[in-house]
Formats: sequence, structure tokens, C-alpha cells
Amino acid sequence: MTDAPHVRLFLPGPTEVRREVLEAQARWMVGHRMPEATELVAGISPRLRRVFQTEARVLISTSSGTGLWEGASRNGVRERVLHAVNGAFSERWADVSARNGKAVETLAFDWGRPVDPAALADRLRGGGFDAVAVVHNESSTGVISPLADLAAAVRAAPGGDDLILMVDAVSSLAGADVPCDALDLDIVLTSSQKAFALPPGLAFAMVSERAMARAATVPGRGYYFDFLELARYLDQDQTPATPALSLLCALDVQLDAMLAEGLAARFARHRAMQDAVLAWADARGFERYAAPGAESPTVSCLRTGGRLDVGALNRFLRQRGMILSSGYGPLKGETFRIGHMGDWGVADVAELLEAVDAYRETAPAVAPAAS
Ligand SMILES: *Cc1c(COP(=O)(O)O)cnc(C)c1O
Repeated sequence: MTDAPHVRLFLPGPTEVRREVLEAQARWMVGHRMPEATELVAGISPRLRRVFQTEARVLISTSSGTGLWEGASRNGVRERVLHAVNGAFSERWADVSARNGKAVETLAFDWGRPVDPAALADRLRGGGFDAVAVVHNESSTGVISPLADLAAAVRAAPGGDDLILMVDAVSSLAGADVPCDALDLDIVLTSSQKAFALPPGLAFAMVSERAMARAATVPGRGYYFDFLELARYLDQDQTPATPALSLLCALDVQLDAMLAEGLAARFARHRAMQDAVLAWADARGFERYAAPGAESPTVSCLRTGGRLDVGALNRFLRQRGMILSSGYGPLKGETFRIGHMGDWGVADVAELLEAVDAYRETAPAVAPAAS
């Protein structure tokens, strides 16, 4: 594997991992109850809280983000949850809640549209829910939703102070502003392999005191994703089960880099990459899938317009050591996606876009694949 050619990932996850971060995983193994492991977690926690912009706990899970979807649904929802659905990931999270025995209602929006705060406020007016779930950044459609306005709508709803607001920030956190405490969010989860630019295998969740208090009243939380259990151990700089220690070493290194760059600078870099991609797309007539103003700063979803065979494009790009993403699920063929998250900069994105231009000069215009 180490000698396999390096393909630079412009995907909406997994994202490119810097060599320094990869190599941090090669440290000698330690036991997870040895002081070395406790010190590692003790050092990570405060920096993780800074990235989440919170004073509350940020739980560490050895799983992908999907595991913490299940955790959020099982800990945060007592009986009935309202899931805003505007793409593939929000649709799947609603399914996860249902499969965990929760009564699920959905507030649906056309794909490509953000979650509308007024529509959310409207739906919450009648009461009946004890939790609300939203996906901040729909990686399937390249759409970001107005989190501050959504949070305000939840708190202003009848009984809003008791509503648990659960946010999937998997492809936004650390690439876009998610001020957990300032917005009074309850559960905010993300995966290591998106804007954190780590290998996959870890997931993190900010859990407010309100959410912890809720979890204590909800039966059937299970064990692996029980927030009370995770918190009890985290308070001693430990985890209930053996964590992915090598990944924690990578996180340790990456947190330093992220905080040295500064969150504001990191968000600005993501917007600059987005600007470069959108300007390129506009100049070439590739329309944005996202509704105007809802374009994601971490992943751009563009319509092929029947003028790009993404499979052939990626074969061309691979020879140049790069890859981008096809459309998600039903949008395959109709769209392609450029992940510009993690540690990439504008110059890297420009190199990718130049290569796409080079492909377009050599390739005949084609209809999108039927599949
Ligand atoms: C990638 C992604 C997920 C799934 O996360 P995993 O870490 O693959 O389990 C969930 N939500 C969004 C928005 C994503 O982009």
C-alpha cells in the first residue's frame, strides 16, 4: 500500500490526510489504561472543545459519524423526533432514528434546497416533538442550511427550551463556522474523515448539559453509544472501550495544526476554495445544484449538463494523481462533486480545475451515464 501511487482526494470524504498526520499513527502502541493514553485524551479534550466552540463535553467515539447518529437518536430522543430532510444524509439519519424505535416525522424539502427556518418554526408550532434533527451541510447536494436561524426557530417554538436540537455537522465542522455554545445547540456530531482531514474511524459529538439531562431520562440507550457512559469515562480522560489509539495520535497532531491556523482563517480558506470552484464552474456553464445562497463552503455539487462523463474524467484525473466525486445516489450522472475540505488550499483546487479543463479539451461532449 505504501508504494501505491498517491491519488489526491477531492472528495466529500474521506479527505486528503497530510503525511505528518498519517505518520503520527505509527507511534508505538500503548495500553488504553496506561497513563500515556490518559494523557493523550487529557491533551485532546480541551483542544477539541475549542474546535467545537464549546465549554461542554465533546465525546470521542471509535466509529464513523453514523455511529453517533445512532447515539444521538438513542440518547437525545425520548419519543418523537422531527427530522428535516433535504438530501440523502438527512434522509438516512431519519431512517436511523426510526430503526432505533423512535417515532419519526419528517419535514421535507426538495433536494438542492436548504432547510427553511420559517417552515421549521411552522411545523414546531403544534408541539408534540421532544427533539429536532438537522443536517447542517448536505454532502449529497452541496447545500448548507442556515444553522443560526434554525436554532433560533427551535428555541422560539412552544416548549423550545426542552427540545433537543441535534445537528449533523459531519461535512461542515472545522470547515465552516459551527459555534455550538453561541447557538445553544445540544448534540453536534462529526466524523474524522471530513473537514478534520484525518483518516476515518473516529467520530466526535458535542453534548450539552440539556442533552445529558435528557439522556438520563431515556431508556434503551444501549451501551456502545450511551452518552452517560461515554461522559463518565471522558471525565477521567478515558473511553469505555478500547479506542482507536493510533487515530487519537493523528488527532493530537492535527488539532495543533488546526488551532495554529486559527478557526477563522480555516473557514476563510474553505470559502476561498469554494469561490475558486464556483467561479470556474460559472465560467464554463456548469450550474450549481444548490439553490442560490445555499452553496456549501466544503463541497460543491455541480450539474454535468450532459457535457461531462464523470467516470471518464476520473480515469483521466487518476493518471494525474487526483480524483473528484460523482453525484450521490440518484444524482449520479446528473451532477459531480468537488470536495474542497480539510487541508487543501486554493492552489490545490486550481490544479484540479486545470486538469478538468485539460480533460475537457481532449474529450468529446457526452450525455450523462444512464446508471
Ligand atoms: C459522510 C457523511 C455522513 C456519514 O458519516 P460516516 O462517517 O461515513 O458514517 C453523515 N452525514 C454527512 C453530512 C456526511 O457527509
